[in-house]
Amino acid sequence: MSEVREFKTESKRLLELMINSIYSNKEIFLRELISNASDAIDKHHYLSLTDDSLDRGREYEIDLSFSKENRTITIKDNGIGMTKEEMIDSLGTIAKSGSNEFMKKLLDASEKEKVEIIGQFGVGFYSSYMVASKVEVVSKSEKSDKAYKFASFGTDSYEIDEVEAKFEGTEVTLYLREGEEFDNYLDQWELQTLVKRYSDYIRYPIKMDFESEEQEVDKDGKKVEGKYNKVIENKTLNSMTPIWKKKKNEVLDEELNEFYKQKYYDYQDPLANILINVEGKLNYTALIFIPKKAPYDLYSDKFEKGLQLYSKSVFIMDKCKDLVPDYLRFIRGLVDSNDLSLNISRELLQKNKDIEDIASNVEKRIVSKLETMLKNEREKYVEFFDTYGINIKYGIYDKFGLKKDLLKDIVLYHTISSDGYVTLNEYVEAMKEGQEFIYYASGKTKEAVLALPQMDLVKKKGYDVLVLTDDVDEFAINIMQEYNGKKFKSINQGDLDLLSDEEKEKIKQTALDKKALLDKIKEVLKDDVKDVVLSERLEDSPVCLVSEDGISFEMEKVMNQLPNGEGVKATRILEINPKHKLFEAIENLFNDNDPMLETYFKLLYEQALLIEGISLSDPVAFSNRMCELMIKSAKY
Ligand code: ADP
Ligand code: MG
Repeated sequence: MSEVREFKTESKRLLELMINSIYSNKEIFLRELISNASDAIDKHHYLSLTDDSLDRGREYEIDLSFSKENRTITIKDNGIGMTKEEMIDSLGTIAKSGSNEFMKKLLDASEKEKVEIIGQFGVGFYSSYMVASKVEVVSKSEKSDKAYKFASFGTDSYEIDEVEAKFEGTEVTLYLREGEEFDNYLDQWELQTLVKRYSDYIRYPIKMDFESEEQEVDKDGKKVEGKYNKVIENKTLNSMTPIWKKKKNEVLDEELNEFYKQKYYDYQDPLANILINVEGKLNYTALIFIPKKAPYDLYSDKFEKGLQLYSKSVFIMDKCKDLVPDYLRFIRGLVDSNDLSLNISRELLQKNKDIEDIASNVEKRIVSKLETMLKNEREKYVEFFDTYGINIKYGIYDKFGLKKDLLKDIVLYHTISSDGYVTLNEYVEAMKEGQEFIYYASGKTKEAVLALPQMDLVKKKGYDVLVLTDDVDEFAINIMQEYNGKKFKSINQGDLDLLSDEEKEKIKQTALDKKALLDKIKEVLKDDVKDVVLSERLEDSPVCLVSEDGISFEMEKVMNQLPNGEGVKATRILEINPKHKLFEAIENLFNDNDPMLETYFKLLYEQALLIEGISLSDPVAFSNRMCELMIKSAKY
């Protein structure tokens, strides 16, 4: 008696999309079904190690067959199989977590984007409906003594029937749609090509009856002219050896890149691949890829970092996050070790010493690969850094700077006098005689930084300055403190060490002479600034605002954007340029005891704030002051 059930809403929508898809890459249906078969075998193997009721030592295989007459393709495996409930759960609904989000993206996307999204996620079982009008799945799980058949046209509903069990495992039969485009799949060569292209490294044999013609031979072993016989050979189509098990010198870059593209559904070669073979106390292989393009959701909360974990080439888990430090979250790949127990549970894994050792070594190898790239393939490294540099800076800052020594040589910065990036080492090498510090300045762009009044003297001296534009920059630099003995110095904080002792002494003396004026300004601005001083960093500009060592204006901005960071404030110090004409002007006004003295002082401060890119707390008051000034200077 057939049981008819409705697909879940989400599944209906996905099925509809699949059926109407103009997706050109329909052939991936085979990859999806074979990968399901391989997953099912993995599961069977894995469970049979601990579950005595499961048949152990089974000869696993995936069988592929087709019938031109019936227009069918069949993929059969002897894996874990499905009970009736599992069938309903797995095939009646989208099994994937995050599928809702996936659907939303897919529905909003343009046709072109759809192709990319489908490619990225892999569409699983439902992709069969791109090529088939009807799909039947017969499955028998060892957990049940009955077998079931799922059948559906991919519209609203599916049927489930109890059927005679002839095997353990699952058999998926596709009834191909009408049309030449689909006829092409009913061909042994085409199927072989697809298996090679997409499923070559599947660890179980994918077998198919392969037909060929052989010339007849007579009893003397001589070929008979014009006489051919049909021969059928059950052929294994895939090479099976996991590519990561090959020796480094036996495997070509192209092969690794092809593997990457197939496995991670990317259409571009990775930026880099790293094949690591370690033999020693701990034996393992790791195959790591740096994708050219960052995954679209890399910075979302939902993004899961991790490497696949295999033990003796048998799959254990998909995203082992303990294998990847946060700052390298964008890498993809796998680790295969002979020394890890297959029975290892996910909880145990987290505290596993071997995993820790592998992770730490893999991390070092990746960083060292990046160093080599920086040294030998600068352009490529720049491409890497443009995409992932922010992660490296985050890595320096993270864990209280634990990784700063590992990463300090692969971080790049823009500077005011270079067109491209420089490394810290290059900066230090190019330092001018007498330059003691690595200067840096924060701003939205290089132009903005160059325009800062604080840059006056540094520029005049010909010192280069790192231009920091990322939120994380100052935090990372604060954690590093120094590079090869050279301390970092913000052009916005503390003594810049730009003047000679004599010049400094002169300014000190001026400050003493003008103490009354400075005290007056300080008094007027006492709610806004901690101090008012004569500047040692200004040349052509009249004023600037600097912050006391510790929290900078940039950090203030960043921290105030954080959920709990509000209220952080950098200590402000107003600096006035004693060489500027404006200083003289103020002094005269002060000596005349001008009635608008306070207005001028406030304007001085407000200008400094604006230059620094800090918004005014009371713009109306500022505007009123400007009006007052204009009225006063207008000649009636
Ligand atoms: P995914 O493979 O990513 O889980 P699919 O849509 O490809 O998603 O498959 C859905 C589910 O159906 C699988 O998770 C699995 O539980 C089940 N399934 C599909 N094919 C098989 C199979 N050959 N043997 C056993 N279970 C299968
Ligand atoms: Mg699948």
